[in-house]
Amino acid sequence: MAIATVNPATGETLKTFDPLNAGEIEDHLVRAEQAFQEHRTTGFAYRSERLLAAADLLEADLDSISRTMTTEMGKPLAQARAEAKKCVKTMRWYAHHAEELLADEHPDPADVTDSGAARAVVRYRPLGTVLAVMPWNFPLWQVVRFAAPALMAGNTGLLKHASNVPQTALYIEELFRRAGFAEGCFQTLLIGARAVEDILRDPRIAAATLTGSEPAGRSVASIAGDEVKKTVLELGGSDPYVVLPSADLDKAASVAVTARVQNNGQSCIAAKRFIVHTDVYDDFAARFTERMSALTVGDPMDEHTDVGPLASEQGRSDLEELVDDAVHRGATALCGGRRPPGHPAGWFYEPTVLSGIDPDMRIHHEEAFGPVASLYRVADLDEAVTVANDSPFGLSSNAWTRDPDEQARLARDLQAGGVFFNGMTASHPGLPFGGAKRSGYGRELSGHGIKEFCNMTTLWYG
Ligand code: NDP
Repeated sequence: MAIATVNPATGETLKTFDPLNAGEIEDHLVRAEQAFQEHRTTGFAYRSERLLAAADLLEADLDSISRTMTTEMGKPLAQARAEAKKCVKTMRWYAHHAEELLADEHPDPADVTDSGAARAVVRYRPLGTVLAVMPWNFPLWQVVRFAAPALMAGNTGLLKHASNVPQTALYIEELFRRAGFAEGCFQTLLIGARAVEDILRDPRIAAATLTGSEPAGRSVASIAGDEVKKTVLELGGSDPYVVLPSADLDKAASVAVTARVQNNGQSCIAAKRFIVHTDVYDDFAARFTERMSALTVGDPMDEHTDVGPLASEQGRSDLEELVDDAVHRGATALCGGRRPPGHPAGWFYEPTVLSGIDPDMRIHHEEAFGPVASLYRVADLDEAVTVANDSPFGLSSNAWTRDPDEQARLARDLQAGGVFFNGMTASHPGLPFGGAKRSGYGRELSGHGIKEFCNMTTLWYG
């Protein structure tokens, strides 16, 4: 894939970049290793001051970086601004909380003396340089949610960003440099996916984190496994959105639209499978379809646009194939199911609601990365749980019910890294984020996320 900014709203190539050659990659690795040896000895106050400076700089750049993101991958401008603001908030959160999250632990004195020690301490030391392979869908957020905790823990980062967001990738490197982090603490590698293996195998790389597709995750994890290096994987999902009779139906239908079409439908934690109790199915389907049909599709720079183009032509054809397969096998498009008229150049797709989904349709098992919702009618809670779990993915899940017994059952049985009741899944710096099953492993954000790339060291004093 060429490293280039191509505007998805017009198909126009705006800027292309040469990938780094072998010598340039080596220079980056040398700088990363040197920076790590220095950065790991700095204290939390030093790191915090720089991360807060980065947050301030990002806040000042909010408008321009949001426009860059929208230009590179097509998300509506207001959503790009919201993404940048969330990054500012997360940087500040880790700047303020990292020291407390990584504070030394003091095991029970009884257990320590039992081991023969006068005392013992558990300390979270940094691992080294972490390679971050990141996707284009939240081009700032996916990187910041890794970089903020990693830098606060004393690690250094090398970013291999998606090839279609090079300007955002270069901006992030520059942001950390401007904020006062030493040269080499956080660097962007403009490289294609094929260059990842050699870098990952390099002894100067301690670990890797990847957000993206299952094939990319499998490849990085198997190479890292071969090298015995830690990985964190976040590989997308097909989150269920369960609606039961006690739900506030109007709110459930309205939030369902946002949960499905946020980021033009290209979010790993978007609700994708809407599993509705038969008693409220018709009512929910009518309200949901009406709202999905009323969305404005168009220029993502226009403040009135709800849904912009898909990020790539390939992404749109993948989505079209999933919808066509479902309709061919008997699903009904209650709305959408086609490219909108009037946008010949960009990679637009109409918000779509499909009903009558069967397990033999590809969309039942695969991630629909665009504004396409699958509706399921279920007879009861048992069937809702069965359908919700009938997916290779297990990132997050949503459930609309005000019944405490139903909530307890869903909290126990939904196979996912999160269960959000009466609201949509969202990530927050203070809450762990990550999946089960083929959605990956490990956690980002919160204290759990910052500890993923730490060497939890036992200090034993005799
Ligand atoms: P990819 O997984 O291909 O891209 C994500 C990142 O991984 C990019 O930086 C990409 O680089 C890199 N990459 C791809 N293949 C490899 C590899 N073998 N080894 C190392 N790095 C690799 O996602 P796509 O953009 O192709 O999207 C395909 C599907 O993946 C989507 O339709 C969606 O289902 C899922 N996806 C999920 C995301 C999530 O948030 N969990 C985000 C994006 C996609 P390069 O760009 O150079 O190819």
